[in-house]
Amino acid sequence: MTTTTPDWTALAASVQYPTELLIEGEWSAGSTRYEVVSPIDGRIVTEVAMADASDVDRAVASARAAFEDRRWAGMAPADRKDVMVRWAHLVNDHADELAVLTALEMGKPAREAKAIDVRACHRTLRWFGESIDKVLDEMPKVGDSSWAMVEREPAGVVGAVTPWNFPLTLETWKIAPALAVGCSMVLKPAENAPLTALYVAQLALEAGLPDGVLNVVNGLGSVAGAALAGHMDVDIITFTGSTATGRAIMTAAAQSNMKRPYLELGGKGANLVFPDADLDAAAAAAAWAITYNAGQMCTAGARLIVHESVKEEVLTKVLEAMAAAQPANPLEDDAPIGAVASARQLDAIHGIVVEGLGQGGRLLMGGEPVLTETGGSYYPPTVVDGLQPDSLLAQKEVFGPVLTVLPFSSDDEAVRIGNATDYGLASAVWTNDLSRARRVSKALRMGTVWVNCYEEGDLTVPFGGVKQSGFGSDKSLHAMDKFTDLKTTWIELP
Ligand code: NAP
Ligand code: MG
Repeated sequence: MTTTTPDWTALAASVQYPTELLIEGEWSAGSTRYEVVSPIDGRIVTEVAMADASDVDRAVASARAAFEDRRWAGMAPADRKDVMVRWAHLVNDHADELAVLTALEMGKPAREAKAIDVRACHRTLRWFGESIDKVLDEMPKVGDSSWAMVEREPAGVVGAVTPWNFPLTLETWKIAPALAVGCSMVLKPAENAPLTALYVAQLALEAGLPDGVLNVVNGLGSVAGAALAGHMDVDIITFTGSTATGRAIMTAAAQSNMKRPYLELGGKGANLVFPDADLDAAAAAAAWAITYNAGQMCTAGARLIVHESVKEEVLTKVLEAMAAAQPANPLEDDAPIGAVASARQLDAIHGIVVEGLGQGGRLLMGGEPVLTETGGSYYPPTVVDGLQPDSLLAQKEVFGPVLTVLPFSSDDEAVRIGNATDYGLASAVWTNDLSRARRVSKALRMGTVWVNCYEEGDLTVPFGGVKQSGFGSDKSLHAMDKFTDLKTTWIELP
């Protein structure tokens, strides 16, 4: 990856990328086309092909044919590994293009897209690629007169439906483990963020991924996404997005061929700050956790659950740090945060803030869209205090830079408030007392608990939720298990 900083605005004007559907290794026109609108300034970036149900049928047929003739699953593991590692390196070679496309389609700073999203895409492809020939099958001890072999068989055709908040990262968290085990895939990227998906798919062809192993069907969730979820010839549907859509996908899976769903859904993350914590570190992290990516993170630290004895001190520091995280043009290299992903997302965020403030509470910062003169979609850091743990702003996922402050007076109360949502994705505990750290982190029903940090992770550890945040983790070797079926072959020896 280059370490120099390009002129993002110039690159945004000159970058070339595919705009069709990818089916059977060919760029294919869809039934119709739609406009991709940039949240930076409301300009139409391009038109891309839009898949309807018949296009999804073609893509699934292509993935099925690739799977059945074993053009990919049947390749020597070391050769499949080479393709994926080559692909990973091509991602790095095109880091600037991928970063600027991310900024254009969903509004995050190009600088951040390069440092985080492109890097995650590269590392995920490489990590799962390199794992291919290191995961072994099993041979249980069943006595002298028999052999039993337990093999991890690729599950077949995987449908993937992904969101726009970290388009490259979240797509690759699905693509890499599924392809590593030998499945083929049809990817439906977020309607407003198809460009990065198409670009990465183009690099896959360049890396030598056989035709039909990865197909991309841009389009609407209600059409192309629903067609995939309800398809009779898709074996697995893997999804990241909202809880409401997850429910629809699970229903469609049940009502069609009982394909198995894996759902990574919403969250209402919290920072639990205890009086013995390093309050400077906790406040800095709490401000970051709700402003990073303009708060459009399923793991966003949307609640500041803080001991009443240190509330004023922590809040002062949080407000100061959040005040510095103002939105700016994401093509400027020093933009603290960028645009929110779309005009629709801006309306959704602001609508929840207005409705939430209708229940009371004190607005300490933000609360109105900014930079409206740009034609883009920008929301400032927003903080609300004085609401109850069961209020709308303490419960509903906003998916924007909106922090709700909730005080507590005992450890039990902190845990109770922390757990009092339908979600269970991630939260952080801030304390220097090891026993308290262990007790509280154990009591939080979350897929991930961070102690004295936020959003730390690595490809070696799983990422996923409990409760209505979903099931079936991304990342780590466990992600490969999701895309395999265990097959037993029992051989009776004469
Ligand atoms: P979304 O509306 O659920 O969309 C996610 C994807 O599902 C998009 O590709 C969407 O297509 C598609 N979709 C919509 N309706 C569908 C249907 N009936 N059948 C099949 N697919 C359908 O969510 P979003 O608004 O894009 O993203 C924000 C949400 O995602 C937040 O709630 C956030 O918490 C969640 N999220 C969770 C994680 C996680 O890892 N747990 C990560 C990121 C985001 P369209 O683009 O056409 O709508
Ligand atoms: Mg949507």
